[in-house]
Amino acid sequence: MNRGYVVNRLRYAPGDAPLFTLATGPVDAYPAVLRALGSPVPYDYDPSFQATYQRVAEKLHAVVKAETVPVILQGEPVLALEAAAASLIARDDVVLNLVSGVYGKGFEGWAARGGARVLELAVPYDRVIAAEAVAAMLHQHPDVTVVAACHHDTPSGTINPVDEIGAVVARHGALFLVDAVSSFGGMGVDAGTCRSDMFVSGPNKCMGCPPGLSFIGVSQRGWAKMRANPAAPRDSVLSVLDWEHAWRSDRPFPYTPSVAEVHGLEAALDLYLAEGPENVWARHLVTARACQAGVVAMGLALWPAEARFASPTTTAVRIPAGSDDAALRAEMRARYGVVCSSGRGETLGKLIRIGHMGPTAHPMYSVIALTALGGALRALGVPVNLAAGIEAALEVIS
Ligand SMILES: *Cc1c(COP(=O)(O)O)cnc(C)c1O
Repeated sequence: MNRGYVVNRLRYAPGDAPLFTLATGPVDAYPAVLRALGSPVPYDYDPSFQATYQRVAEKLHAVVKAETVPVILQGEPVLALEAAAASLIARDDVVLNLVSGVYGKGFEGWAARGGARVLELAVPYDRVIAAEAVAAMLHQHPDVTVVAACHHDTPSGTINPVDEIGAVVARHGALFLVDAVSSFGGMGVDAGTCRSDMFVSGPNKCMGCPPGLSFIGVSQRGWAKMRANPAAPRDSVLSVLDWEHAWRSDRPFPYTPSVAEVHGLEAALDLYLAEGPENVWARHLVTARACQAGVVAMGLALWPAEARFASPTTTAVRIPAGSDDAALRAEMRARYGVVCSSGRGETLGKLIRIGHMGPTAHPMYSVIALTALGGALRALGVPVNLAAGIEAALEVIS
């Protein structure tokens, strides 16, 4: 595909590969991950691959920090979320589902599927759930046995305080299931910080891999609960239990693992560990801060109702009144070769999102995003102070 600027058109055509993918996932993978994906594909029961699988699971354990070695599932994170719900939640559970966005709301269907009662604590999609509100809800409903939260509700670009919520849930004694798909690896959250029993994430957001795998960090209580759940799937792609011991090189796989994706995950984990997780989180944060400062200085509004709700891995920008989000994204792409994400579900049409995840979590990408955003708005007749936006971003960067 043509990656170049076509001089006689002076536009990036829809069929041309974009120059900068600054989406909120899938993200542009790290070159080292792409190289690893291209390594030879061994037989999954070859001892070399069984050793690889155990090594990858153990590296994952070191960063996910769950009580037990994380389970790797062979599909993108929706599989892990659905499998976690099916495996953990029984008919007699009472689930408190925390909803501050599209993914939080989406979990309700999986939570209710096995017949459990599902209660909801919801806030508008530009706000986040306060730990005090969870405590009040649990006080009112002492029969709650499972609490589910989405850490970073990506279609809103907002961060729920899962560490504080986790402490409240632990005091109550319920199990805590966390969707950390688009925050893990990009900020300081893990299964330990939020005291979760099921910590669901994947390598295709902040870890810089293509979509294809997911993982769950499970606590001892989480395993006990799944084993005691008569409805927990077995011999199924939705089974977490089937994979409990599969990380060990002397145990069988329930079915064929995604060999190439596992190689990619190892490369991503090696990069993450070599750079140092704190350093990785710091560059996500400074990129987001620069981008968010630039958006505001340009005269635009962030989607989150308060700056402190904003994610360090996504900048969500309100679409100015009278403009159209699809036209804006099309203009950014055609004019500058820059791709951003739309909203989703309830936020579709109301915002656009700039991803700061993995390889794109470098401060200069915020300048590229701001330039494309401001330039495209201007071309569409929306006045913005582009120079002030760039100045504000550079001030954060330096
Ligand atoms: C990306 C993401 C998922 C995975 O879902 P897809 O829409 O299939 O990519 C799940 N939860 C959150 C919060 C995500 O950002």
